[in-house]
Amino acid sequence: MRIGGLQKFSLIDYPGKLSCVIFTQGCNFRCGYCHNPELVIPERFCPSIPEQEVFDFLRSRQQYLQGVVVSGGEPTIQGGLVAFLDQIKRLGYLIKLDTNGGQPDILRQLVQLKLLNYVAMDVKAPLDRYEEIINAMIDPRKIEQSIEIIIHSGIKHEFRTTVVKSLCSQEDLYKIRQMIKGSQRYNLQKARIDENVLDQRLSGQGQYTDEEFKCFKEELEKCV
Ligand code: SF4
Repeated sequence: MRIGGLQKFSLIDYPGKLSCVIFTQGCNFRCGYCHNPELVIPERFCPSIPEQEVFDFLRSRQQYLQGVVVSGGEPTIQGGLVAFLDQIKRLGYLIKLDTNGGQPDILRQLVQLKLLNYVAMDVKAPLDRYEEIINAMIDPRKIEQSIEIIIHSGIKHEFRTTVVKSLCSQEDLYKIRQMIKGSQRYNLQKARIDENVLDQRLSGQGQYTDEEFKCFKEELEKCV
């Protein structure tokens, strides 16, 4: 496992639980609004944190923390993920996985092995615009499969879309809504566009107003 960061305490990353967050290094997507280029671009990786160090920390917090959030980057591209999560589980923690949904086979395996207690998947765009938005190649059927696996997993879950005005129209949001029909929870968030984003060409572009955003949410709430 390549681990690029460990946030030792969080009240917000695992809904309803005191948790810590482990950030893995590397991602198969290149979303322009990504706020974690140091976890995505290999040249910007810092030295990885040894797994042993992470497990020493987790052992020391067993009394205080309930959950571990494994985020990224993209955790499912890590070769040792199954064994890593299994070890966390054996320490008695609940596990939440944050994923971009690009690896449905891994996701299926994690669900079947009962290693996950919560899954949050980013849905980046309607299927026909996926490659354009993630700036990488993907078979959109993989995204469909991941959504399907999560919705039918019996595991608590949520889907999330980060919205950049120039990249996501209201029509796109309606299409995404159709893709995740039947899901438990959907979070819509405005992208924070500043000098830290992966694609600097997005800097300075206008965003939806709070009023526009509220209208989108109200419309979407009718379905999810
Ligand atoms: S926002 Fe996109 S590029 Fe950044 S970590 Fe998530 S999936 Fe990868």
